[in-house]
Amino acid sequence: MSAKQMVSRGQVHVYTGNGKGKTTAAFGLAIRACMAGKKVFIGQFMKSIKYNETHIAEHFDNISVEQFGKGCMLLRVPDEEDKRQAEEGLRMCSQYLKSGDWDIVMFDEVTIALHMELISLEKLIEALDNRASNTEVVLTGRYAPQQLIDYADLVTDMQEVKHYYANKGLLSRDGIDR
Ligand code: ATP
Ligand code: MG
Repeated sequence: MSAKQMVSRGQVHVYTGNGKGKTTAAFGLAIRACMAGKKVFIGQFMKSIKYNETHIAEHFDNISVEQFGKGCMLLRVPDEEDKRQAEEGLRMCSQYLKSGDWDIVMFDEVTIALHMELISLEKLIEALDNRASNTEVVLTGRYAPQQLIDYADLVTDMQEVKHYYANKGLLSRDGIDR
């Protein structure tokens, strides 16, 4: 099989690990793909705050962003509404994956939804199995389970060497990353 044939199906990327850069990498890839004329859907799990990156769709016609979360998850136990939101995100992203209408479908922070048991890994894998052949997939978030790592074609583990928020809590806003 030639190298071209090997990558003829849309690939599955996972950006995981404790270091900074997973969501940033996904949005960077979205801009690069958009510059190549590709159409990108970004589903943000666990988030409802309009972080700066959510405005990307106002600047690029080929990129759409939708959030599937309720308030801030960091300081509380997830409830039924969090579960409903995450399941809706999985349903919508799965549909877009299958449709063939999108060149890339991104599931930002989906591994956190898995980690918190808001969605099932089996359903996510089923959605990946059923993706249109031309559609690339990007999954981000800490704690990617081994089964997802085994399934993916590309896995990057962001390793924290140093972070200015370390020991200050994730909501600190000293750095320019929101
Ligand atoms: P980013 O959105 O900056 O690319 P990320 O997606 O890799 O970060 P998340 O786990 O989604 O990381 O964390 C979201 C927020 O937490 C960001 O504001 C980010 O700067 C911060 N953060 C990421 N990694 C760390 C870390 N190792 N220590 C402290 N804060 C972190
Ligand atoms: Mg992130």
